[in-house]
Amino acid sequence: MRPRALVTGGAGFLGSHLADALLAEGYAVVAVDNLLTGRMSNIEHLRREGNFEFLQLDINRQFECGEVNYVFHLASPASPVDYMVHGIETLKVGSLGTLHALEIAQKNHARYLLASTSECYGDPLEHPQKETYWGNVNSIGPRSVYDEAKRFSEALTMAFHRYHAVDTRIARVFNTYGPRMQVNDGRVIPNFMKQALRGEDLTVYGDGTQTRSFCYVSDEIDGLLHLAASNEHFPVNLGNPSEFTILDCAQRVIQVVGSQSQIRFGKLPQDDPKQRRPDITKANRLLGWNPKIDLDSGLRMCLDYFRDAVSSETASSLRAPL
Ligand code: UDP
Repeated sequence: MRPRALVTGGAGFLGSHLADALLAEGYAVVAVDNLLTGRMSNIEHLRREGNFEFLQLDINRQFECGEVNYVFHLASPASPVDYMVHGIETLKVGSLGTLHALEIAQKNHARYLLASTSECYGDPLEHPQKETYWGNVNSIGPRSVYDEAKRFSEALTMAFHRYHAVDTRIARVFNTYGPRMQVNDGRVIPNFMKQALRGEDLTVYGDGTQTRSFCYVSDEIDGLLHLAASNEHFPVNLGNPSEFTILDCAQRVIQVVGSQSQIRFGKLPQDDPKQRRPDITKANRLLGWNPKIDLDSGLRMCLDYFRDAVSSETASSLRAPL
């Protein structure tokens, strides 16, 4: 019998790529999503796949998905624009949704993996960030709806491990990019790609000296699978440690696209982390995992996707009635 895996947020950016990877490894997959930020187009290609099932449902209520051996809990709005628009839903899915996903794992004696986040470190005072760092999070700021939901998710996951012996894993996912990101989700790479492809100014917030470390989606998924296969219950950072200023990132996007776009500076959002870079010593030691794709190669690999996404968006806005 094939192992069967539940993927919450299965129609999302990471969830749909994880579903592809699990199917390729011989799993049966049941993806659930309420399509708040996920999209059917991300899983359209799996419609005729016999080992794939999709259930549109809200995991903030208790739900049934049949017997499973694995639970991958990825459901959540994940871009700052999305989670600030959907603040309450983000808090709910990180609390009620996480509880219900853990209950499914407990009931089925299934292995459980939580997709947590580098946002647990907030605006970090320790650099690069190791898993042992407790973070610098504003519990009442605009980002708190996401940061605290994920921190609560981690606490609940550890509690189910400690009190109910559920076989849990916690991945701290750092900035990840690639095909299937929504061009309008507000994150930096889709924004810059869209702007560069249209020849518009790239909107760098603040002076652009803040840093991020970008991981290509296939590397991230590979890390999640390695972590799921390990025996580690404490959090593990999964990201690419090559760190870039946002200004440098903008210039690389302009170059990869071959665009004439200029850079325009705008207001830095409140509590925007000044620096972020994963220390991946633990992932490397425990999982033998290392990301392989550098930023320029990754940007080139997703250029066609963004070009298509931007042109179909332009076409549909031209079709829209005035
Ligand atoms: N950013 C930017 N211009 C944009 C979008 C984002 O300068 O059009 C900056 C943002 O202020 C942050 C970084 O890029 O410093 C990464 O933002 P993103 O929304 O991708 O995710 P975050 O890492 O903040 O969760």
